[in-house]
Amino acid sequence: MIRELLIFEISDKGKRAFGLPKLDVPVKDNVLEGLTVREDIPDFPEVSEVEIVRHFTRLSQANYCVDIGFYPLGSCTMKYNPKVNERAASLAGFVSSHPLAPEDLVQGNLEVLKRMEDYLCEIAGMDAFTLQPSAGAQGELTGMMLIRACLEERGNPRKIVLIPDSAHGTNPSSAHLCGYRVQEIKSNQGGTVDLEDLARNMTEDVAALMLTNPNTLGVFEWDIKKIAEIVHAKGGFLYMDGANMNALTGICRPGDAGVDVIHINLHKTFSTPHGGGGPGSGPVGVKRALVPYLPVPLIEKRGERYALNFDRPKTIGRVRSFYGNFLVVVRALAYVLTLGPEGIKEIAEVAVLNSNYIRKSLDKEYHLKYDSPTLHECVFSDKIQKENGILNIDIAKRLIDYGVHPPTMSFPLIVHGALMVEPTETESKRDLDLFIDAMKKIAQEAKENPEILKSAPHHSYVRRLDETTAARNPVLKWEREKKS
Ligand SMILES: *Cc1c(COP(=O)(O)O)cnc(C)c1O
Repeated sequence: MIRELLIFEISDKGKRAFGLPKLDVPVKDNVLEGLTVREDIPDFPEVSEVEIVRHFTRLSQANYCVDIGFYPLGSCTMKYNPKVNERAASLAGFVSSHPLAPEDLVQGNLEVLKRMEDYLCEIAGMDAFTLQPSAGAQGELTGMMLIRACLEERGNPRKIVLIPDSAHGTNPSSAHLCGYRVQEIKSNQGGTVDLEDLARNMTEDVAALMLTNPNTLGVFEWDIKKIAEIVHAKGGFLYMDGANMNALTGICRPGDAGVDVIHINLHKTFSTPHGGGGPGSGPVGVKRALVPYLPVPLIEKRGERYALNFDRPKTIGRVRSFYGNFLVVVRALAYVLTLGPEGIKEIAEVAVLNSNYIRKSLDKEYHLKYDSPTLHECVFSDKIQKENGILNIDIAKRLIDYGVHPPTMSFPLIVHGALMVEPTETESKRDLDLFIDAMKKIAQEAKENPEILKSAPHHSYVRRLDETTAARNPVLKWEREKKS
């Protein structure tokens, strides 16, 4: 692996990336008069064109990304995003429209938003959606605020939110931010909600159950209808974290199973590259009882025209400026339209097939604490490799040497030494087999040559770091001797 130097380090005095003919007109002085102009930029890099191009091209390839290869980061849905969606999102009419433009000038944009809301209602089985939240976690908070607003109006906002131990970590934070105390519900041996524990804890102090479904073990909550009955019987709401809808699309509609509020991550299930911190979109869908509280403005179709309705006395207000991350919605709409109803169903079928193929192919080499058939992801642990002193981090780091991005590690917390693998629907069997082969080789190495795992990765730009020091005291450039 070649060390990529800083551009300042490949600088040679006098080099230029371009050549222009000598001026054949008089030089005009003072064009910049009145402005502050630096005489000199110290150490300004002087490089040739080819050096610039190679430097930045190499840097662009130093980072692993989903356009290079398999990226099995569980719970993140790092899938390939079709380029046609990017094309749609970069159309001038979308990119250049101003969020303050009057309704009359942005009818097309409003139609995009309204159609996406309608498709989400159809896919999730809900009565209405808001597209405002910018992320899954913000969708959760919005959903909890809707529940609180409704309960407040009924006379008592209640105090507690129930959350299973297999929930996504953002769920308890969102409930807490919304002013609720979080009570944990246990999983049973199959990795789903323990109905007895739920029934015991479901009192009239409980505002809602927040259910990640499929949960973070990748397991579908088979008893969701019973769960809904238990929660509804005490006047509570069933919130579903639907960030990983790619396990369900076209097959199961949460609304039909008794879910009252759901958020969906467009940036996971419905295209949009993510992982670098955004932009995202976490639309929230609700049943009729919660519609009055949705954030303003609501987009409505009045005859042939689209209009923004701000006149909603019970609204919780805005949760984000303007209409959310509009271009993420454009990508999602392009995705839905290119796939159509059959394609939407195929998302879930292939995501689930791929995950189970991996689970079955590796269940001899790697321990599975919960052996239930999974949906879109499966969770192995390092229990077998631990006998040779190998931990999940050693396995993850060694995968880098085999050209694969490591899976999610040490999450969910209920599986000690977890390796959470989500292949997504976009991987071919060939790519899945490359991953499975690498994992098998690593299992072999753990027995025969554990040292090679302990010191991995060996072929990456950055070797094994002390992660605490790296986080607290990051060294972002190579040490170098000062050039004379
Ligand atoms: C990713 C994820 C979230 C959080 O979504 P963000 O957009 O990162 O805020 C919540 N729940 C589940 C199950 C997720 O996978």
